Formats: sequence, C-alpha cells, structure tokens
Amino acid sequence: MAARPQPYLDSLNPAQRAAVEQLDGPVLMLAGAGTGKTKALTTRIVHLLVTGRARPNEVLAVTFTNKAAREMKTRVGQTLGQQVEGMPWLGTFHAICVKLLRRHAELVGLKSNFTILDTDDQLRLLKQLVAAENIDDKRWPARMLLGIIDGWKNRALTPDKVPASDAGLYNHRGTEIYEQYQRRLVELNAVDFGDLLLHMVTIFQKHPDVLEQYQRWFRYIMVDEYQDTNVAQYLWLRLLAQGHRNICCVGDDDQSIYGWRGAEVGNILRFETDFPGAHVVKLEQNYRSTPHILAAASGVIAGNEGRLGKTLWTEAEEGEKVRLIGHWDGEEEARWIGEEIEAMQRGTRGMDAIGLDSMAILVRASHQMRAFEDRFLTIGLPYRVIGGPRFYERLEIRDAMAYFRVVTSPDDDLAFERIVNTPKRGLGNVAQQKIQTTAREHGVNLVEGARILLAHDGIGGKGAAQLRQLIDGIDRWHKMLRGPLRPAAGGEDDVIEQTATVFDEGPPEVTHVELAEIILDESGYTGMWQNDKTPEAPGRLDNLKELVKALEQFENLQGFLEHVSLIMDNESDDGGEKVSIMTLHAAKGLEFPAVFLPGWEDGLFPSQRSMDESGIKGLEEERRLAYVGITRAEELCTISFAGNRMVFGQWQSAMPSRFIDELPQDHVEVLTPPGLYGGSFGAAMPKSTLHDAAAEANVYNSPGWRRLQARAGERGVSQPREQRNVTIDMNAVSSFTMGERVFHQKFGYGAIIGIEGDKLEVDFEKAGVKKVVSRFLSGCDD
Ligand code: ATP
Ligand code: MG
Repeated sequence: MAARPQPYLDSLNPAQRAAVEQLDGPVLMLAGAGTGKTKALTTRIVHLLVTGRARPNEVLAVTFTNKAAREMKTRVGQTLGQQVEGMPWLGTFHAICVKLLRRHAELVGLKSNFTILDTDDQLRLLKQLVAAENIDDKRWPARMLLGIIDGWKNRALTPDKVPASDAGLYNHRGTEIYEQYQRRLVELNAVDFGDLLLHMVTIFQKHPDVLEQYQRWFRYIMVDEYQDTNVAQYLWLRLLAQGHRNICCVGDDDQSIYGWRGAEVGNILRFETDFPGAHVVKLEQNYRSTPHILAAASGVIAGNEGRLGKTLWTEAEEGEKVRLIGHWDGEEEARWIGEEIEAMQRGTRGMDAIGLDSMAILVRASHQMRAFEDRFLTIGLPYRVIGGPRFYERLEIRDAMAYFRVVTSPDDDLAFERIVNTPKRGLGNVAQQKIQTTAREHGVNLVEGARILLAHDGIGGKGAAQLRQLIDGIDRWHKMLRGPLRPAAGGEDDVIEQTATVFDEGPPEVTHVELAEIILDESGYTGMWQNDKTPEAPGRLDNLKELVKALEQFENLQGFLEHVSLIMDNESDDGGEKVSIMTLHAAKGLEFPAVFLPGWEDGLFPSQRSMDESGIKGLEEERRLAYVGITRAEELCTISFAGNRMVFGQWQSAMPSRFIDELPQDHVEVLTPPGLYGGSFGAAMPKSTLHDAAAEANVYNSPGWRRLQARAGERGVSQPREQRNVTIDMNAVSSFTMGERVFHQKFGYGAIIGIEGDKLEVDFEKAGVKKVVSRFLSGCDD
C-alpha cells in the first residue's frame, strides 16, 4: 500500500524529523528553549495516528499545565486537519491520574466518587489531627506539617516508607500524624493532590495485573517538560513505560524551575540508564527568538555550573537588542510599560504594530501584578492574568476587602459572613445561624443581628466575647472612617491644600490607609497569617501590604472599593485582544513576540530566599527562571528594574539584579527614561558593566538619589552601591534647597519656593503653586 503523504513532516528539520519518525523504543529529546521540542512531540502524536501505529486512546501524553494540554490538543488537531476526538490520555499528570484512580479507587480503600481536597481542606483536617494530639499549633504549625507531607508525597513516600533520616521532622511526630492523616482521608473518601500520583504508584506497585493492563494499553508515552517531573511522577512513568518501552521524553535541564516543589532534574540524566539503548536527539536550531535575545539568555544561563551544555543557533534576523531600563519606583515601571505597550500597539518605534495578544509581562512574584492591573485599568488597557487568580481574587485580598466592606457599609451581609469567623473566633455554624435568624426576625443587617443577640446573651462560650470584640471593632473603625481625614500621602492626595484648614480642624484622625492597617491588625487578620509558619504565608502577607499600598492612590476606602468592583466587573472574557500578565513559572513553554520582564532587582529576582541560602542551588534555579523568561520572547525583550519599591509599607531601595550584570553587553541596549530625570543620562556614559550603566542611566545618577546616598552615609548606613535591600526612610530625606528645580510625577517641573519640614511649596511651571510632600519630588538641576 502506498504511504499516505505526510506534509506535516516537511515542516520539521532533520533532527526533529528523526525524533518524530523514531516511533519505537525510548527517545530522549534534550534541547534548549524554542528548538521545537513541543512541536516535535505534537507532530509525533500526529504521525502515530496517521501511520496507524496507535489509536488516539492508546497514546499517553503528559504536559504540565492545563493550558499546555489544551494547546497540544489544538496543535494535533490543526496538523491533522480535523478535530481530535478520543484522546482521553492527553493531559496533565493530575488530570490523567484522577481518571485512573477513579477506576481503581477500591484498591486503596476509596470509592470511585472520592473528593479531591484543596489546600484549605487539607489544612483544616491536619489542624484537627494536630489538636487531637494536644500539639501546640503555635510552636508546631499544622501548615508546616502540610509542607512536609506534600514533600513526602512528591517523593512517592507512603508513611511506611518515610526514611529514618526524616523521623525527627515536626518534633518527631511527623510520620505518625502523616499516617493518621492518610487514614482519615480514606475514611472521608477523599484524596489530596499529592495522593493522585502516590495512590497510582502504590496501586501499580502492589497490583502487577493492573499495571500490566496499562502497560499494554499505552502503546506510546510522551512527556513534555520532563525536567520538571518529581520522583512520584517519574516512578509512575517508568512503571508504565516498562511495557512497550515506547517512551519519548523532551526537556531542557536549563529550564528546570520546580526544584522547590520536588522536581528532580536528575530524572533527565537517568533516562539513558533507565532505558538502555535510548535514542538521544539533540535539537540546536532555535526558531523562536532573534540572535540578540538568544545571546542574552545564553549569557545569563552560562553562570550556572554543572549544566549539560547545549548549543543554540538561529537563522532569524538580528532584530533589536534586549532593552534594559531602570525606573525610579515600581509605579513608574508600570506606567512606562503601559505606555510602551500602547506605543507598540500603534506601531511606533519603527516596528510594525502588534496586537495585545502578542505581548506579555512576566513577573517573578505575583504581588508585582497589582501595579500593572491597576495601571492598565486606569488607562483602559485590556489584560488577562494567566495561571492563578488575579490580585483582587486572592483569598487574603478578598478577606481584607470584606473587612473594608463591612466597615464602610455595615449592611453588606455577604462581607460580614466572610469575616465573622476569619480569623477563628469560635463562631461555628450554630452561632452564625443564630446571628442570621436574629437578624431576619428583627429585619436588620447581620452586624445589628449580632448586637441584639449579644444583648440577650444568645451566644455562649468564648465566641460571645470574641463576637463582641468584632462588633465593637466594626463600630470603632466605622467612626474612624467618618472622622476628619488627613490627606493621605501619595497619588491624588499628596497635595496639601493651601488653605490648610484640614489641619486646623482639631486633631486629625487616621487616613484611610492607616485605617486599613488598623482594621487588619485589630481584627487579628494580619496576625493570623503572621502566626502561620508555612511557605504561603509570607506571600499572603506581602499581598496584604500591597493592598494597603494600593489604597494610597485613592481618596478614601469607598473610592477604592468601587475601583475594585470595576476590576471584578471587567473579569468576563470578551474574547478581545489582551496583554497577558503571569508569573515566570506559568510562562513555561509559551512564547510571545514582545515580552516585558519587570522587577529585576536583587531580593525580588533573584528572590531574597535564594540569596540567603548558603549554597548556590537556589540561585541557580533563579537563573534558570531568568533564562526561561528571556527565551519566551520572539522579537522584543525588555528587562526593567526599579530603584525603589514600597515593600511592607516602607520605601525600600533595591539594587539592580545581579542577573543584569550577567547579560552580555553587546546584546543589550540601555534605555534612558525619557525626560524623567532631566533626560541627560545614559547615552554619553562610559559603560563599565551593564549593571552600572543601567544604574547610572537613571535613579542612581539623579540628584535626589545622590542626596539620599549622602544622607544614608551620614546616618551610618552603608552606601547603596554596597548595600542590598537596606531600608531607607525616604521621608527623612528632604534636603532640597530654596529655588531648586524639581520634578513631580503629577505636576511636572517646578521650583521650590518654601520649605516646611518635609513639606515643600513648589511653583510648578504648569500646575502653579502647590504644597507637596518631599518624597514625591526628585531633583533635576545638577
Ligand atoms: P520550550 O523549551 O520553550 O518549551 P520548545 O523547544 O518546546 O520550547 P516549541 O514551542 O516547540 O519549542 O517551538 C518554538 C517555536 O518554533 C514555535 O513557534 C514553533 O512553531 C517553531 N518551530 C519549531 N520547529 C520549527 C521548524 N522546524 N520550522 C519552523 N518553525 C519551527
Ligand atoms: Mg515546549
């Protein structure tokens, strides 16, 4: 029979084609970013189907994210020229294991309709167990145990397999409670995420007949992003592949970014031992990025030790250099990126216009997203957040907002319900029910209902005192809210009205920003996360600080809440073009013509944690993350950093990331912030290293910054060049002089005509005479 034409093979280079046509036996495709690994893998699936080697349901294809799985399905469909039906085994590890486990649940004591717990449920369950054992949750937080148990599950360790070296964990009680936890889950007919793989590995190991059935069934196995598999996933794959031994794994050791979640890059290196005779395919041509982008990425990753080392080349035109720009602060960075995006949309700067779908902002930490979300909303730039909730949808943000809602509008029963027992106040379902009933009977809101209930001693135990405290708190905060407000620092409110009558009206109460902090503190909400000794807690606290910071730009809480409901309203996807915002982790495998990489500052990227670690492991993983970030870009890659960020409610100075130093200079163009600090820096400057060039191109060369440095020196703080993340209170610095020319982000240029502490009177060229707070000014005559 004549072979059917296979046009899809024509779009491959010889190495890719070899990998696609090598259908039998183990194949390892080890190659750098953008070399077409995923393309080859997808084409391989097509080839299997077209040549009749396998039916769609006999192919097991594993990817890391749902988005990647969907994309792979679409690509297979496009190449085949028809909708792919019946590929039930193309998906993420978890999705595939859920399906398998439902079929065999009884083998681990579960029913097939088991439920899957989320982290909150997991934690609640662990807390119960810990409490029953009389373990002090403060000293030994259940969340810590949760992390330990997840770690064991990532390593495919059932309680009986936990090694002796781990016996001391969680005050020597870890293994014991792990065992109880697993028993309890079975009683509840439930599993957690880690169980999905763990149970399947257990089933395969204990029931060879079941394993054999699947070994036979899955004729071909394919795995994308193999470098990020953990031990449990690896074992699961290895067990399944022992049947036909038709397994094809693709990966890139330089893109291993999930070590912190138990991924073992060693799995790649072991492949040839596990599957002797494996075909190893190397792909070296990159089809994604321009030479400048590739060279920049290669330059950074070269700093890692112990790499397999790969060559990458491209035929693409040289294109633009990677752009590097420094900003005064994080807000400025967001504003600049917003303007750049709009400019690119219009097709300025000699480039063709590109749509918003072609642009992405990749951040290191999710709390960086807020500044972009707010900015884009203000200027009406459509955006989407990929992988993970948008800032205002996060649990801690919703909780905090619920507090603000109750305080500004005590009728908001939904908000009250959300916070009445968060943090825990001993007000369980029964108590909450009573509040509801009382409120209904009296036709009042829940706050009033609770008040009536308390007056009639309708609530007993510890809950009564705590509820009273909450209601008193709400009353108190509500009063503060209506008290005379002092203008808050920052944004719209940083102008002190000339009449100054606001200041003469008796002692000012708190600003809405301070009030927000007070609410979160006094309600015990901040404390709840502070006492939480788990990996997620610091992030949640960061987000709360971010939230408070966001408030500065609004006149009052009400205005802020309206702004957020607008954001939420904006949620529905109208299918129009949007800029993507996501973390670097979520960007794995994706590509965009234009990529922005903001926040390249030591302490943020690389993260403080990785810098504090004694070894280089953490730092190397951060460097791989930088490599992943740069290699997402096809044509234009823009790296930026800010000299100052408001962190934990204080201005923190930061140094440009050490990774900036590692960018090869020939492939990077240092941009000067247009007109911001007098606009005369940058171009004429001698470049010692990029780091210095970037730093001097902006903030560090501004008179304001130098004053700050001098001042920091006086106060015994080391000079910023050496210091890493030393906090400097910018308020203390107002060494401006009369007549000095200054720049204000809202009012533009002006001259100082009066000084009163850190409040300055400035005659602005356009805006006239205003009083402003000194920290919102930068000097510009030098
Ligand atoms: P990553 O490591 O980032 O996951 P990858 O190796 O999986 O990258 P792909 O996403 O498969 O790379 O491919 C990168 C880009 O190059 C895609 O746009 C793809 O369509 C294109 N590409 C891959 N191979 C070829 C080829 N032979 N000819 C033309 N374009 C190709
Ligand atoms: Mg890929």
